[in-house]
Amino acid sequence: MSKIKVKILQNYIDGEWVDAKTDQTESLYNPATGEVIAEVPISSDEDVDDAVKLADEAFKSWKEVPVPKRARIMFKFQQLLVEHWDELAEIITIENGKSFKEAQGEVQRGIENVEFAAGAPSLMMGEQLPSIAAGLESGVYRYPIGVVGGITPFNFPMMVPAWMFPMAIVTGNTFVLKPSERTPLLANRLGELLEKAGLPKGVFNIVHGAHDVVNGLLDHKDVAAISFVGSQPVAEYVYKRGTDNLKRVQALAGAKNHSIVLKDANIDNATTQILNAAFGSAGERCMAASVVAVEDSVADEFIESLTQKTNDVKIGNGLDEGVFLGPVIRDNHKERTLQYIETGEKEGAKLVRDGRNDEDAQREGYFVGPTIFDNVTTEMKIWKDEIFAPVLSIARVNDLDDAVELTNQSRFANGACLFTNDGGSVRQFRETIDAGMLGVNIGVPAPMAFFPFSGWKDSFYGDLHANGKDGIEFYTRKKVLTTRWV
Ligand code: NAD
Repeated sequence: MSKIKVKILQNYIDGEWVDAKTDQTESLYNPATGEVIAEVPISSDEDVDDAVKLADEAFKSWKEVPVPKRARIMFKFQQLLVEHWDELAEIITIENGKSFKEAQGEVQRGIENVEFAAGAPSLMMGEQLPSIAAGLESGVYRYPIGVVGGITPFNFPMMVPAWMFPMAIVTGNTFVLKPSERTPLLANRLGELLEKAGLPKGVFNIVHGAHDVVNGLLDHKDVAAISFVGSQPVAEYVYKRGTDNLKRVQALAGAKNHSIVLKDANIDNATTQILNAAFGSAGERCMAASVVAVEDSVADEFIESLTQKTNDVKIGNGLDEGVFLGPVIRDNHKERTLQYIETGEKEGAKLVRDGRNDEDAQREGYFVGPTIFDNVTTEMKIWKDEIFAPVLSIARVNDLDDAVELTNQSRFANGACLFTNDGGSVRQFRETIDAGMLGVNIGVPAPMAFFPFSGWKDSFYGDLHANGKDGIEFYTRKKVLTTRWV
């Protein structure tokens, strides 16, 4: 398709839809068809500077708006998101590829964040101690920090920005979002709905683009804080450059999530949950199950049940009825995944289910069928690396000690799940596993909006996580007032 036939997306700055000051664009593809659906401007430093300056200007009045009034805009925004639920989900499926049902679930997760943010009047309350000494009292008051930059990945175009901007703006900050250049459409729709909800100009802004925009935000003197979510190398880079520029930074990074299946687990539940966690959203979740450590005595039964269920998975365009597995995001990501499958074979893992052979994966678009390796060991690349695709590695272990020892060797530590019916094992798992988000008998232990999204090790750089009270802390600063009444 020729570039001139499709629309070039606009940036949203100070309540206006404006052309980026650049000739450079990148094509936006529907991964299920390979069609170009829009062009994304690769905005310049100048665009970033315009957005930050105007956001900084808007901050002066927005921070003075009473908190309940700011919260009321969140209530209105929530209502609009509910009204537009299916439309938003369709945009997500078209630009990201995940099934419509999963996209609806993602919209729900976003809405939950807005609902949490609407609680700002309680969440922002300070604390007092009426007598710190005779006639002396102290109190803590909470204030916004200024302009916040948000940089987001392709895999959750609604949920991940919603981890950031609702809480940032309701606490009185202004926000500049740099959405993924591979899934930028949903962000623009959010901008339109925020405007409809009555958000004043300049409070929420969007600058489309790639690393230049990221660097522009990281270096801009008027950006107070950066919320980043994306792959590990970029998260590390963003954290280092942002903190070097003396900004607050929270950088949520890549993952390799482990599930442990013990011999007393309900195998039917375990395989249903793990199938969903490994292959849902084409494995492109930071909480995807990518390794299963299964007790040897039930490993054959587990693999047989998982493979049988996986064979029934419907592959196709996420907008079609009953489709579970959509495409991966781009052609080069498909190629990378196929290379990992080859690597796994060369490394000596046993290919139990080869997704390259699925007939439905041969269609146009970037499809890879669900792939399962057995006998995976910790020195293999398929065990170590985040593949971010529907490829699952199974490692056989003797017992829980063995499984925990194996899991804790990973450099990543986002989520970990245990499948068991034994309380003592649950306690041992909770106390000894190195991961920040744990699940028992569930596949994707992603915390809801009111809890922190608390990755460890190379899955997170910073102090305060996204969401929950951590989110409120991250987007606010405190004054402590000590008074003597004379
Ligand atoms: P990515 O790192 O390629 O991109 C994320 C953002 O960084 C995008 O906005 C992109 O434009 C920007 N970016 C990319 N390369 C850059 C560079 N060299 N310099 C500056 N900016 C750059 O990530 P992705 O592929 O879009 O998303 C998938 C990754 O995100 C996976 O690794 C996944 O685990 C991770 N993720 C983590 C979480 C979490 O909570 N820890 C949640 C969702 C996704």
